[in-house]
Amino acid sequence: MTAGRVSLVGAGPGDPDLLTLKAVRAIRAATVLLVDDLVGEGVLRYARRGARIVHVGKRGGCASTPQAFIEKLMAAEALQGERVVRLKGGDPFVFGRGGEEAEHLRAQGIQVNVVNGITAGLAATAALGVPLTHREHAHGVMMVTGHARGDGASLHWPTIAAAAAQGLTLVIYMGVSTVRSLQAGLLEALPAGTPVAVVQHASLPQQRHAVGTLGGLADLVEEHGLGSPAVIVVGDVLRGMHHAALEAQPMKHARTA
Ligand code: SAH
Repeated sequence: MTAGRVSLVGAGPGDPDLLTLKAVRAIRAATVLLVDDLVGEGVLRYARRGARIVHVGKRGGCASTPQAFIEKLMAAEALQGERVVRLKGGDPFVFGRGGEEAEHLRAQGIQVNVVNGITAGLAATAALGVPLTHREHAHGVMMVTGHARGDGASLHWPTIAAAAAQGLTLVIYMGVSTVRSLQAGLLEALPAGTPVAVVQHASLPQQRHAVGTLGGLADLVEEHGLGSPAVIVVGDVLRGMHHAALEAQPMKHARTA
């Protein structure tokens, strides 16, 4: 009897051309796919005909599928010998609960393998033509969530800003809905003139972005009607942004370096 196995597969930021070959192979082999909201529709074209595709996302009109239900369903299908692929936006182990799902499955003796995906923060900066690190501007990167934890606490933004001020690029996921408070916290330790960019739907045809400065970040998001899914990038690496990209997005708060 098989103990069952599940592949946690990164679907990348949306553009199916950004899937890895391993991901494509796993999707093709799957008999059951559990798919998150942020997985681009184009990615599912690699699923075999007859595969069962279960959308377990939190949007799409239905109430969110409880995490416990997703975990139970995955385990049950795997134990019945199905080839289960859990498709998650971006990389399965960057936010998005991939770690919790892997732990849950392993605790039941189910084998888990993980296939990397291109995470949204990397896709967003590539879309802008901006390096996340640059010898002259940044010596590292911090990927953080703007979303409060289960207990309601969020990151201490002034501390994050103090670290960023040492020369780290800040990449904030899930930050648009809390942008005013995170902006206020970051301004305690970073200058108002620090460049920022917000990229929505990175890698997809509907991709949009706006650039400006930290002092005007929340207004920038509001004026441009930028919403989830979007990544906020903060740091001097944006000064290297190609001038043409800045010109393409004229706006009140935009300041070229
Ligand atoms: N595992 C995913 C992140 C899941 S958390 C990854 O590695 O990318 C969900 C957040 O990811 C969104 O709120 C948004 O901040 C970001 N995100 C996902 N897809 C995105 C996209 N195409 N463009 C911009 N941000 C995206």
